Order: sequence, then C-alpha cells, then structure tokens
Amino acid sequence: MKNYNVGIIGATGMVGQRFVLLLANHPNFKITALAASQRSAGKTYTEAVANRWAMTEQMPNCVKDMQVFDATNDIDKITAAVDFVFCAVDMKKDEIKALEELYAKHECPVVSNNSANRFTKDVPMVIPEINSDHIKIIEAQRKRLGAKRGFIAVKSNCSLQSYVPAIYPLDKKFGVDKCLVCTYQAISGAGKTFERWPEMIDNVIPFIGGEEEKSENEPLKIWGEIKGDEIVPAENPKFTAQCLRVPVSDGHMAAVFVTFKNKPSKEEILSVWKEFSGEPQKLNLPHAPKQFLNYFYEDNMPQTKLNRNLEGGMAISIGRLREDSQYDYKFVCLSHNTLRGAAGGAVLLAELLCEKGYMD
Ligand code: NAP
Repeated sequence: MKNYNVGIIGATGMVGQRFVLLLANHPNFKITALAASQRSAGKTYTEAVANRWAMTEQMPNCVKDMQVFDATNDIDKITAAVDFVFCAVDMKKDEIKALEELYAKHECPVVSNNSANRFTKDVPMVIPEINSDHIKIIEAQRKRLGAKRGFIAVKSNCSLQSYVPAIYPLDKKFGVDKCLVCTYQAISGAGKTFERWPEMIDNVIPFIGGEEEKSENEPLKIWGEIKGDEIVPAENPKFTAQCLRVPVSDGHMAAVFVTFKNKPSKEEILSVWKEFSGEPQKLNLPHAPKQFLNYFYEDNMPQTKLNRNLEGGMAISIGRLREDSQYDYKFVCLSHNTLRGAAGGAVLLAELLCEKGYMD
C-alpha cells in the first residue's frame, strides 16, 4: 500500500481519540491534520482534549502539540494537508451531511463514522469483509456531487458489527428466515466513561435513542445490491432488535436467535464461521484480523472484558451456539464498539479504499 496523509474531523471525541491511537502507529497513514469544533480550534490537541482523554493508552507524542483546526472554517487548510479524512462528530444530522458533502466537493474523500449519510442511496455503508463490492457506487456518487476525487463512504452502526458478521455467511449458505437480537452495549458507545456518566454504575438503561431502528434497518442496506446509481436495500433477512445500555466500558455483546430456510447442523454452522473471510484478508490489509469470526467452546465465553481486544479489537467473538425451542438456534456475539465498531472499522474501510485506488 502507498503512504497517505490523513486528517481526523472530531479528533477530540471518543471515536476521534481512538483514531488518533490507531493512526499514530499505522504503517501507511500519517496524521497531518486534526479538527473539531470552534471550541477546540486554535488550541493544541493536548489543550483541546484537556481532561477528556478517555483511552487507557497514553496520548501519542506525535499529536500532543498539533494545532486543532475548525472543521468548517479551516476546510481549505485541512484539505490541503491531507489525502483524505476520517469523520466522527457529534452534530445535528443535517449539519453532518452538509459537512461531509463539503469535504467531498473539496475533492477530499471522507470515511465516516456518523450515521447522517448511511441511507444516502449512493453512499456505500461497508463492513469490508461482507460488502466490499458496494464501493463501486462511488463513481455514481462522484457524478452527483460533481467531484472527481472526493466522495463519502461510511461504516455501519456499532451495535450490529457483532451479529451481522456471524449471520451474513450463514444466510448466504442456508438462507436466514428471521433473526432476533438483544444487544448489551458499552457506555463508550455514547462517547462516555464511568467518570462522566456515574449513573451507569450498577445500572442498566433499556433505551438507546435510534439504536433499535439502526440495528434492524442497516443490515438490509449491507445485504443490498447496486442497481443503476444506487444501492437498493434487501428485503430479507428480517431483524428485530432490543438494545440495552449496560455498565461496561467497551464492547458490545448481542444475544442472537435465528431461524433458517434450510436448517443446518451445529457442525455446519461452526464450519461456515471458521472458513469465512473476505477482501481484507485476501488483500492482507494492515487492520484485517487474520481470523475474522472466532468461536469459543467454553460455556461462559466470550466475555466482554476478556475477549473484546481479540486481534486488536478487530475480530468477532462468538459462543454458546445451541438449539432453541422457538427459533432454530441461539448464540452470543461480541465486538469492540470503538475499534471494530467505530474507528478500527473505518480504518479498515479506508485501507480497502486505498488498495482499490479510490484515494489516488
Ligand atoms: P464525542 O465523544 O461526543 O465527540 C464529538 C466530537 O465532535 C468532538 O471532537 C467534538 O469537538 C466534535 N464536534 C462537535 N461539534 C462540532 C462541530 N460543530 N464541528 C466540528 N466538530 C464538532 O462523540 P463520539 O462518541 O466520538 O461519536 C462521534 C460520532 O461517531 C457520532 O456521530 C457517533 O454517533 C459516531 N459513533 C460513535 C461510536 C462509539 O462507539 N462512540 C460508534 C460508532 C459511531 P469538540 O471537542 O471541539 O467539541
């Protein structure tokens, strides 16, 4: 892979900090611009983050004294300094849409964590192991935006990155008829730590705004197909979801129930998971986990604290596969929400886009 200069929009936030850590050690990407809101603009990264550094690892030296730009007003300086940007900002949806399009129209590709453009018909929403072919829609998007080089590509919501990778290859082989999931989601998914959200200690909150809709609808776009100038979502498999916030720092778990069109044996399911890999593994991308789907045979595994960092937080852990009295099977899945589910997933997507020539 060639080398690229990259920017982080929303660099001071929870996901932004993850980007900083991942990119500070990246073999091909170099951080050359950091941006956030007007509140942070003009400060050094250390001053702008102040006491909000939420990572267990130290802030990397290479960013400590970098000046933070205003994501909107300094766009010319930012786009001049980078080949593309990652974006993870806490703003209103229409503002995020406008900001991401502004960068794309400035001929700067945007790899986004935000939900604002996930259902824009010519914006690919990609889990690189599953629907890497959707990036071909970028040509149609460039035409709409009047851009030659700029575009927007997004990753899906963090909640579904645990169970979609497990369900997708099973659906391709055996046909999934219906699927029910209950997610148990970490507080970092809300950009929080226990210090900043003490109400979450010893507590479960049975509501995460918008999360159940995303968990049910986004998989259908991932299963979708490019038709003309848009990605048309699939109609199946149908998902129903309940999403709970639990007192965990990082790592989203999902309890999954699934019924098949052609019910496989337990051994067949385990074999599909073991064998499944995608474009990132074929291309040997820097953030591709060697083994994407990992099954644990112990009854009490996977556990959030023990397994969320598997393969740098980029692999999916699965366990407790067994027959169910109402669905065919049930099992649990786990993924790291700010790594695979956010910054890591976006870095992997950017690596795919680089390797396929979209960042040149
Ligand atoms: P966060 O910790 O609240 O950080 C928000 C970031 O947005 C900060 O850098 C903030 O800068 C910046 N920002 C706010 N208003 C801005 C503006 N007007 N212009 C430019 N930057 C602005 O939020 P987060 O948890 O990192 O989430 C960021 C995005 O990623 C959200 O869209 C979220 O839905 C998505 N996401 C999060 C996760 C997760 O696990 N946390 C997973 C998937 C997706 P200041 O410091 O200057 O205010």
